[in-house]
Amino acid sequence: MNGTEILVVEDEPAIQELIAVNLEHAGHRVQRAYSAAEAENIIRDVRPDLILLDWMLPDLTGTALARKLRADPRMKDIPIIMLTARAQETDKVEGLEAGADDYITKPFSPKELLARIKAVLRRRAPQLTDDMIEIDGLRLDPAAHRVSANEQSVSLGPTEFKLMHFFMTHPERVYSRVQLLDQVWGDHVFVEERTVDVHIRRLRQALEPSGHDRLIETVRGTGYRLHA
Ligand code: CA
Repeated sequence: MNGTEILVVEDEPAIQELIAVNLEHAGHRVQRAYSAAEAENIIRDVRPDLILLDWMLPDLTGTALARKLRADPRMKDIPIIMLTARAQETDKVEGLEAGADDYITKPFSPKELLARIKAVLRRRAPQLTDDMIEIDGLRLDPAAHRVSANEQSVSLGPTEFKLMHFFMTHPERVYSRVQLLDQVWGDHVFVEERTVDVHIRRLRQALEPSGHDRLIETVRGTGYRLHA
């Protein structure tokens, strides 16, 4: 999961710095915000892969921001981990009801934080993890950045690789072009929807020799799906 983009929303500079340094050390890319308003601007611009969200912010509570994000169709799938100094059970319930995926109580060790991040990504965004995946003789190894079809190596460009990884971790579900842009391209303000078609075509071409191109289905009027 190297290169995962994480937004840290925390108004206490020392804590923010500590978290950011540890995340960067673990190979993540980090964006920082001191307030909910700042966080919202960054989220609109870069659409992070995961958000670490402090409970008490100067302008809004973390739970209020979580609710706002969950109500936004483009943002609702971003995994959120709440950071809080409070450990009461009712707070935990409130955080989870607001749409947070997990909850971590301060003070926490960097090791614990990284473990929670990994667990949440595995559950909510498996395409960002390094877990090896295999479907119908098609095998993708994120750590080695390798794809093989029936033991034969398949050469894919970086975007095709990400697309393949996303489809393989989300089989049988149909995704629109806009959803694929959000999930695979992330920041796609200047990317046109037909760009998706171009990369799907390239992906199918690369998979053609082994016949695995049949896995990538076009769903008329809707988008694409991996059908095993
Ligand atoms: Ca705070």
